[in-house]
Amino acid sequence: MTAPTPAAPADSSRAPSSGAPTRVLVLNSGSSSVKYQLLDMEDGARLAAGLVERIGEETSRLAHTPLKEGGERRERTGPIADHAAALKAVAEELTADGLGLDSPELAAIGHRVVHGGLRFTEPTVIDDAVLAEIERLVPVAPLHNPANLVGIRTAMDLRPDLPQVAVFDTAFHTTMPESAARYAIDVETADAHRIRRYGFHGTSHAYVSRETARLLGKAPEEVNVIVLHLGNGASASAVRGGRCVDTSMGLTPLEGLVMGTRSGDIDPAVTFHLKRVAGMSEDEVDVLLNKRSGLIGLCGDNDMREIRRRVEEGDERAALAFDIYIHRLKKYIGAYYAVLGRVDAVAFTAGVGENAAAVREAAVAGLEELGLAVDADLNAVRSGGARIISPEYARVAVAVVPTDEELEIARQTFALVAPAP
Ligand code: AMP
Repeated sequence: MTAPTPAAPADSSRAPSSGAPTRVLVLNSGSSSVKYQLLDMEDGARLAAGLVERIGEETSRLAHTPLKEGGERRERTGPIADHAAALKAVAEELTADGLGLDSPELAAIGHRVVHGGLRFTEPTVIDDAVLAEIERLVPVAPLHNPANLVGIRTAMDLRPDLPQVAVFDTAFHTTMPESAARYAIDVETADAHRIRRYGFHGTSHAYVSRETARLLGKAPEEVNVIVLHLGNGASASAVRGGRCVDTSMGLTPLEGLVMGTRSGDIDPAVTFHLKRVAGMSEDEVDVLLNKRSGLIGLCGDNDMREIRRRVEEGDERAALAFDIYIHRLKKYIGAYYAVLGRVDAVAFTAGVGENAAAVREAAVAGLEELGLAVDADLNAVRSGGARIISPEYARVAVAVVPTDEELEIARQTFALVAPAP
């Protein structure tokens, strides 16, 4: 395998040599969807963004938003047969905005790849050997890596001359020590089947931990941060001096926090019980724990806005779901406090973390002895920016730090392919 050029730190901004291409297209390919953003790394400006969904169905939809001034959102509906057709449609939309994929200003395409195993610790320029390795990881990421591969191959067909870079969700977590990464199961069995804790949402944890250090006016190496990525999927991480030392997701994204539709931590014997006693099949248990558990399983809703509305109205099921969600979150804050020994900041991010003041308040309530508190007024402020919501006197900063996985992927991609100044 070609040794990948080590990536420069993702926040390094290289001055582009004059005339060198500075645009990066970021692609996030799911099994039936493609999300994309086109960014100009000269100034980090977003030029266009969009989503193709329900690929392969009669009711496919492409929503495209040019982000230049005066650009208006456009939508196409109707069958889009496969990822190749989806990317072709995206390319047409970009061309209509004068941002076509054949533009000499396009420097690279950056792909989100969910599982990089232990092999990929850095963003990597994709070649045949890298493709083969991502393929080899399909057994540990059966839902995600095949879709990512389809997206990459389609983009490579479209622009075979252009560097294509894989940015892995697992990469940030490869610094975890063995004591955090290994399950306490038979070592030979674990190694034979590559069973260990890999962690996910790494691009977000990397970005948010670094932005939190910036918010504190410190270098990432100087601070210890607990990052709480609370979206529909949710994960926590303990980051010491810029390096991940523990994270809540494991072999798959099922482990850890209570999520929108996933159970998070559960006694594995529950799965034997469901098979032996409830007569459920492997696939049924899989669907139960990944799609019908978490908040939706507990109260029928997975949107925190709706759950809060119901709690305010006195709905007991929603209140219990909220309490279980918070209880688990608190346990992880406590656990990662102990793992880190000293904590400088707790950072909330993603849809719930950035927007749900009630979650932030409840997660930190009662932790004053640990130096943690939120200021009610600061917590109530609605803002799209990174901000500290703890009172002046608190020993640990509590922060809201909006995540930006696309920008992080674009930065890492550009750092790898841009000519050195
Ligand atoms: P993400 O996966 O990061 O896009 O987050 C999606 C989730 O964020 C949704 O399922 C909602 O539960 C939550 N969310 C989004 N906006 C709000 C809001 N204003 N208040 C509470 N929760 C929100």
